[in-house]
Amino acid sequence: MSYKMIQENLKKIKNTIPEEVTLVAVSKTKPVADLQKAYDAGQRVFGENKIQEMVDKYTQLPKDIQWHMIGHLQSNKVKYMAHFVNLIHGVDKLKTLTVINKEAKKHDRVIDCLLQAKIAKEETKFGLSFSAIEEILNSEDFLALQNINIVGFMGMATFTENTEQLEEEFSSLKHFFDTQKKQKKLPNCNLNILSMGMSGDYPLAIKNGSTMVRVGSAIFGNRNYN
Ligand SMILES: *Cc1c(COP(=O)(O)O)cnc(C)c1O
Repeated sequence: MSYKMIQENLKKIKNTIPEEVTLVAVSKTKPVADLQKAYDAGQRVFGENKIQEMVDKYTQLPKDIQWHMIGHLQSNKVKYMAHFVNLIHGVDKLKTLTVINKEAKKHDRVIDCLLQAKIAKEETKFGLSFSAIEEILNSEDFLALQNINIVGFMGMATFTENTEQLEEEFSSLKHFFDTQKKQKKLPNCNLNILSMGMSGDYPLAIKNGSTMVRVGSAIFGNRNYN
């Protein structure tokens, strides 16, 4: 895609979202040249869903980019990104947190993570129930993980145009987030990010409390998986 189009898309989105909402440019499957164009247009936060692809892009692009891992994690690959990843969105197991903690420790880092909540009614989406999240945050095993910091939750809504359903899914996570934020006082849990909303639903997500949107095709165009 041309520099001009990427720049215009970014500008359009930036103009419609509040200043305090973080825009993650989801660049999965897109060539490094497209990411560079978004970078040149001022974008600094990028999201990828495969660790190897993110590492490849990280090595080729400017070092002041903040890299977010938004995909489902394979534990055996966490080590490849542990020295640079800025935020991990899709954690849905205590076991995965333990692996991230171990790898973060090797680099003397604390890695920020979001727990992925299941809010969609669909079968295929990953994520934890609200009670499973509480169980993790209340466990002794979690408290022992000093090299991770849970900074919030991530949710993906059902793929639908039913506005009412989308609002219900987003607001349920917002409500849970607010409740947990009030209750949880732990050294490795500091809830202030709610990652909800993609190209098709980010205005609704923001209306319902999102502080971070993950937008791909509305910036870089449709993806081609062939
Ligand atoms: C691909 C992806 C996005 C972005 O999707 P678009 O519809 O292109 O904006 C957001 N979040 C996650 C977890 C993704 O995998």
